[in-house]
Amino acid sequence: MVDMHRHLPQVGEPSLEQDWIIWFATSDTSEWNRMTEAPHNQLYRHGYGILPQSISHERLVEPDMITNLASILDTTLGNNPLGYVGEIGLDVRFENDISSETQFSLAYELMQIAKRRGRPTVIHHIGPMPRLERLLEEVQPSTPTIIHGYVKSVESARRLADLGATISLGPTVWTHKTKLSEHLAKLDVPFLLETDYPFVSASLHDAYGYDTLCSTHLHRISELMGRNIGEIEEQVYGQATLFTHW
Ligand SMILES: [Zn+2]
Repeated sequence: MVDMHRHLPQVGEPSLEQDWIIWFATSDTSEWNRMTEAPHNQLYRHGYGILPQSISHERLVEPDMITNLASILDTTLGNNPLGYVGEIGLDVRFENDISSETQFSLAYELMQIAKRRGRPTVIHHIGPMPRLERLLEEVQPSTPTIIHGYVKSVESARRLADLGATISLGPTVWTHKTKLSEHLAKLDVPFLLETDYPFVSASLHDAYGYDTLCSTHLHRISELMGRNIGEIEEQVYGQATLFTHW
């Protein structure tokens, strides 16, 4: 099984399967220290990320905020060979707190660190597609670049693939009616699977434990795509294995 985007284990969560590919993400520098206590194994990867909404007011007024964060990230990746950059990104909902230009510059600089270090990036994106496309055009990623929680159109997924990014599908694709869920059978670019656990809707969280959520997710995606589970699993595992080696 593959989970390309989940967050750190919660207190009391049962131990994780050792033969799964799991990429843990963080979305705030305050979580980065906890990564050292995160489960370690050859197939797990550790993400160091910061979302626009996690930038505190105090930090926002620092003149060198972006340079400082980039330098902390660079050092952190240097200390953890299994570390990647994520989740970082663009979120239109928080543009009143952190301007779209600042969000863009921060994402750009952090992606440059990933590129220089030869590590992947996992991107969070809420908002219009052209901004994300411009970010990819400007960065020109040379390492795996994953758009997590993707729910936009099949056409946009093709454009992202042309720009060097790989989409990752979370449970929202089947829990909500999205542009993508209605046309998933037409998806003809490589994709990954993720849970974003424990940040799933309360009903999903209560209905399934982590392991069951992962298998249900695979099952529901295969139904929506009209392809058999084994075929989906093989494609996702192949892609994830490739990305997990750096
Ligand atoms: Zn997340």
